[in-house]
Parts: sequence; C-alpha cells; structure tokens
Amino acid sequence: MPEKPIPYGRQHITDDDIEAVNAVLRGPFLTQGPTIGQFEAAFAQYVDAPYAVAVANGTAALHLCCMALGVGPGTRVITTPITFSASANCVRYCGGEVYFADIDPATALLSIDSVRALIEQHPAGYFSGIIPVDFAGYPVPMDQFRQLADEHGLWLIEDSCHAPGGFFTDAAGQTHRCGDGSLADLAIFSFHPVKHIAAGEGGMVTTASKTLYDHLMRLRTHGITNKPGDFTEPYPGEPERGGWYMEMQELGYNYRLTDFQAALGLSQLGRADAMFAERTAIARRYDDAFANTPGLDLIVPPANVGHAYHLYVIQTDNRKELYDFLRSRNIMVQVHYIPVHLMPYYRQFGWKPGDFPHAERYYARCLSLPMFPTLTPDEQAHVIESVKLGLRLEV
Ligand SMILES: *Cc1c(COP(=O)(O)O)cnc(C)c1O
Repeated sequence: MPEKPIPYGRQHITDDDIEAVNAVLRGPFLTQGPTIGQFEAAFAQYVDAPYAVAVANGTAALHLCCMALGVGPGTRVITTPITFSASANCVRYCGGEVYFADIDPATALLSIDSVRALIEQHPAGYFSGIIPVDFAGYPVPMDQFRQLADEHGLWLIEDSCHAPGGFFTDAAGQTHRCGDGSLADLAIFSFHPVKHIAAGEGGMVTTASKTLYDHLMRLRTHGITNKPGDFTEPYPGEPERGGWYMEMQELGYNYRLTDFQAALGLSQLGRADAMFAERTAIARRYDDAFANTPGLDLIVPPANVGHAYHLYVIQTDNRKELYDFLRSRNIMVQVHYIPVHLMPYYRQFGWKPGDFPHAERYYARCLSLPMFPTLTPDEQAHVIESVKLGLRLEV
C-alpha cells in the first residue's frame, strides 16, 4: 500500500522549469513581454498549426473562440455531454443555446451519426457550429466532422484540452495533429496542471485563419488594437494621432497569460514528446494487464489513432464499489464526466435523464485510473493489482 495517495493526474516540474520561471521573474516583463510570443510560436510548431494565441486558461480560450465566430443570442451550437462543462458553457457566455448529441459507445466521443441526425431533424440554418472534444485524449474523427459541417455550413471548434500531441491518419493516408488547423476552424488547449503541459493556469487557441487569429489577439486584450493599419478613419476635428494612439474597437476581455506562466509552459513543452511517450507506455501496460478481463471494458484505439491519454478510463458495472475500494487503497481514481446535460444548470433548459442513453450508461460505468508521466512501475503495478482485487478476480 503506497504511503502517499496516487492521484489520477499530476504535473511534473523539473529544476529547468523552475529556472525558466525564475529567469522571467528576474527580467523586465511579468506580462505582455516576449515569452508569450515564444510560447505561442513553439506551441504552434508542436501541434503543426499556422497560428497560436495564448490566453489565461482553456475556458477563456473557448469563450474567445465563440466570440470570434459570432455566437450570440439565438445561435445554436452542438457539443457532447461527456466533457468538462466548459465545452458547453462558452456558448452560454455569449448568450447562445447549447444542444447535445449522444456519444459513440465505442470511443466515448461525440457521435457523428447522432450529430447528423440532430441536424437533419431541424430546418437548414438552425445550427451554427459544433464543438467536438478529443475526450480522454482520443482524437475525434475531425475529417468526418469537417465534411458534415461543410454540408450544413457550420463552423467547428475542437476542444483539444485532452489531446496536445494527439493525431490520427485519415482514409486518404494523411495525418492530422489535434489542433493543427487543417480541419477545425479553431482548436483550444488548457495548461491546467492535470493536463499534459502545466502553466499553473493557461490556455491556447490554434488556427489556420489569419483573420480569426487577428481577431482573437484583439479580443484577448480588451478589443484594443495599436496597429496603425487597423485604425478607423480620423473623425473631423480630431487632434493629431501621436505614438500613444490606440483604439478599442469592440468589447474584449483581459484574458492574457503572464510571461512567467508562458515560461513554465514553454519549458514543459520541451519535454512534451517524451511525456507523450510515457503516457502511451503506461496505457499499453494497462491495456495488456486488463485485456480480456471479465467485467471490464476498455477503449483501445485502432492503429491510425495517436491517443494522447490525458485519461485512462476503464468501464465496469461495479464502478461505485471499485471506486470506494481503490480509494481505500490510496488510489485517487476519478469519474470523468458527469454528463453535462444532467447538471442542474443545464436541466433548467429541459435536458433530462434518458436524453442520451450511451452517455448516461458511460457515466454509470466509467472510472479514470492514475495516468501521468511520472507514475512509477511499482505504483502502476499496485493500481493494476488493486483493480483486479476490487473486481474480485484472481490476481
Ligand atoms: C480542462 C478543460 C477545459 C477548461 O480548461 P481550463 O484551463 O481549466 O479553463 C475545457 N475543456 C476540457 C475538455 C477540459 O478538460
């Protein structure tokens, strides 16, 4: 029995990370300095996207994406019930309406068939966009979502908080990294410590659209621009515009990341490939240990999918007993997620139990096991043995 609890996820901070933060703290810029741009450039390169905008957190990233795509009262957007609430809340921040569709039980991702059915039940133009989520780190089939979105004139925001480094190869043999801008209009990431790359708090939007990029840069900082080429025409009698001149052109927010957070993110990003490989190795050990275990269901991705393993989820009918048993053995398993449509806030809009049977069954049976790059082989062996004991199987 481990003396210290084993969490389901944990950040990994090295001396180099600390030194990178210290270097910024000793320098002239705590915020609005050059480290932000360096982090953006490095992150864009990592996910293979043309543009990246760093923001205060993943939720702010979602909010700004909805603003940039024009979500407002009367705008209807579809997302998955099996996600963190923020994937839906961003639509509400802008006054839009959230619609849910069921998941595909084989992947636990938003089901393309159920989204198509929902769209086809309504008149043309009823919906404006879809927010698919790379849940647990499993990349959504964004090529299929792109095709569906194009058929109906919809935009796509990929919530890639679980999947930096994730990728899939499409039927034509082309590989797409999550958030590379090749399929979704915008993608978002989070640097909360339980995610792959920790910055304390932090977020990123990636895109291939220069127009959306410029708009997001302005929205992130109050809707202000100081680029002369973007200024409106001077008004009659206006005093001469000097070097101080800037314009607030629309209502934005202060959703900036600080330079010392960017320094931590940048330093962590340098280890992203190694940490991704660690997560994959841990997942393969779990897969092997639990293969063909009676009473236990796993989601094992096919060969064309590069799963990022933010979470390693098992499914069992005895979830409550197993949760209590593992917790009693200092294994801090978690449940991801309580379906968003069943949250009291969303029930007030009429969503109710029974609306999405696959999502609700998934919620009833899912359990996230410890998954983080520094999980030791001994700790993992303890987790595996405990799961089997908890299921009352021979070890
Ligand atoms: C973590 C997370 C967010 C929100 O990110 P924050 O940085 O915590 O605001 C949004 N969507 C998903 C799927 C997440 O896991």
